Amino acid sequence: MTDEELLWIIQNAAEMNETYLDLRDNRLIDVLPEIARLTHLTELYLSQNTLNDLRPELFQLTNLTELHLSDNQMSELPAEICQLTDLQELYLGRNMLTELPSELFLLSDLTVLHLNDNQINELSPDICQLSNLEELRLDGNPLTSPPLEIAEKGIEAIRQYFEALKQEQEEKFLNEAKIILIGEGAAGKTSLTKRIASNDFDPHEPTTHGIRITPWEPDTGNQPVKVNIWDFGGQDIMHATHQFFLSKRSLYVLVLDGRRDEEAEYWLRHVSSFGGESPVLIVLNKQDEACGFDLNRTFLLRKYSAVKGFYSTSCKKNEGIDEFREALLNELVQIEMLETRWPGSWFRVKKRLEEMEEPYISCDEYESFCAEEGITEQISQEVLVEFLNDLGVAVHFKGLDLDDTHVLNPLWLTNGVYRIITATEVVRQGGILHEDSLRDIFKSQNGEEYSYPRSRHKYLLSLMREFKLCYDLDSKRVLIPQLLPVTEPDVAFDEANSLSFILHYPHFLPRSIMPRFIVRMHKDIKNNLRWRTGVVLENKDFGATAMIRADNETRRISIFVNGNQRKDYFAAILLFFREINADFKRLDVRELVPMPDEPEVTARYSTLLKHAERDMDEYLPDDSDKVYSVKELLGLVQPDREDQVLELLRMIKAQLDEKESGAEVFNSLFKLEPSILGIGINLNEAFKRILATQKGKRRS
Ligand code: GDP
Ligand code: MG
Repeated sequence: MTDEELLWIIQNAAEMNETYLDLRDNRLIDVLPEIARLTHLTELYLSQNTLNDLRPELFQLTNLTELHLSDNQMSELPAEICQLTDLQELYLGRNMLTELPSELFLLSDLTVLHLNDNQINELSPDICQLSNLEELRLDGNPLTSPPLEIAEKGIEAIRQYFEALKQEQEEKFLNEAKIILIGEGAAGKTSLTKRIASNDFDPHEPTTHGIRITPWEPDTGNQPVKVNIWDFGGQDIMHATHQFFLSKRSLYVLVLDGRRDEEAEYWLRHVSSFGGESPVLIVLNKQDEACGFDLNRTFLLRKYSAVKGFYSTSCKKNEGIDEFREALLNELVQIEMLETRWPGSWFRVKKRLEEMEEPYISCDEYESFCAEEGITEQISQEVLVEFLNDLGVAVHFKGLDLDDTHVLNPLWLTNGVYRIITATEVVRQGGILHEDSLRDIFKSQNGEEYSYPRSRHKYLLSLMREFKLCYDLDSKRVLIPQLLPVTEPDVAFDEANSLSFILHYPHFLPRSIMPRFIVRMHKDIKNNLRWRTGVVLENKDFGATAMIRADNETRRISIFVNGNQRKDYFAAILLFFREINADFKRLDVRELVPMPDEPEVTARYSTLLKHAERDMDEYLPDDSDKVYSVKELLGLVQPDREDQVLELLRMIKAQLDEKESGAEVFNSLFKLEPSILGIGINLNEAFKRILATQKGKRRS
């Protein structure tokens, strides 16, 4: 909008004694001095412009009750804001404010104040003067005081926090942080930890079991800082337990063996699912033996904003370590955790928990500890436990229905899970655990460090369930798919004469996909033929058998189906895979149909369907000189008749009826593309009908 246009609008509005003016989204850099004429104005919208300052005339609009300034470029809010004494709603979200003038807190009529997505570090306790404030937004700020967790809980929590600070004489910076090392076993995590903390190296470093926590007190030039470096054992089976301890507000270091092409993304995804926005440094270790392996750094930086940098090291030769340590410190001082200010009462609770001998504490006990130290409000207690979790003092599972316990000793937890996972009984059963055997598994042995009373068994099991380490087979038994044997049994399966299909995950084949699929199809498993990366299925209704196998190297899952109604059974299998894949955000999966006479040549299923829609029957694969018929290729995998599809749906339904969570699963299936079979059958309608009968049945 040009100045002339703006002037015209202002003059008009002034003549009409307007009370409302909307100037949103006009690329305004400034408003004109003439704005002062709009003395009747009560609501002014200036959001979505490019204002970087507010001119003094604006503050003459003393009748304003609402002022909208979101989405501008203001780095400062003038103190004159206090002249707008009638202001009730002030919107300042998505600007570049770093501080607030104390005059702002004189606006005692304010009920709504939006400050989200700015650069505010600290909030003055004077905010408590805004006694009418009902809605305060502070998300998206690098707040250290009050801690963002408190700020997000609203003005009441902020008042309590400042109240607590006021009552305490002492108030200190937390100055504590957690560094988490992740990566495959033998990449050099333990060696790197030693280099960083004490500059040692052991060429025969033994494998880490469970977790090792190394304290480190680096010299940051300021106050002493206490850092705990968490280093996880790399055994495949324990990967999954690590997620208990990954937390926000930590600094992550991904250690990769510089000699091998490792799946950096596998770990980065782990961090982004559990560590929130926590920063990650990537280390390519073993440079002394590296042979030119490098990562696609630009790609990773673009895709994962958490990645802060790449470092090449050799723990053996002590090369690149100093540089990395420096980068680590630089990143560390930026973790807001260090600068968060804690009331003395919080430190006292933390200390008591750290000094406890018991490896866990009940929520009631925790609450009474807090109360004894003067933290009586529930909000503060909750925020504190989240902090303690992020620091690694207590393990707390937010949002899980396991709230009766906080774990104080991570080793107690990993050992407990480890004990279940390695129990001979369970291993012998190929991963099936009967709840009754927990008693035996946890029978205390002599000289044992931790004890697991019966009252905690259910907790450990629920935790494993929550973290998808095991699944219920029935009300008494769970299956731990990671314990399925690794080696593929000798099976005679006529692959050459089967329907064949491939799921290709070009970037990332999550290791849990096969175990989850196996659990899903549990009822169809033929003669217990299941192993960690594959399974043989048989479905009598369809008179079909299937062999499904994942190859982690090529990131492919191959599906072969044989028998009478192979196509229908295949459709069911594909549907289940789609359901599982849909659980992973942004997972790239390609569905491929191999050419019957040249199985190494494939066509994308979706491409074939597009051809068919356009009545183009000729298909020329990239890697072949032959021409194929789209109809024939699709005919290899798609059911021929509608009644077969309905039968398929009946089968799916039969499977679901037996499970309590059937309806949920069905809902998620229902959300999948209706055209799974790519033919003109309205699957969505069919799903809906079945879902309706399902509901009716449950009600009766
Ligand atoms: P972690 O399983 O990730 O903790 O790996 P470790 O720190 O236990 O290291 C695994 C093995 O690699 C040990 O034998 C180390 O001595 C060795 N190692 C660690 N760092 C290096 C390195 O930079 N160069 C070489 N050549 N060996 C290393
Ligand atoms: Mg180790």
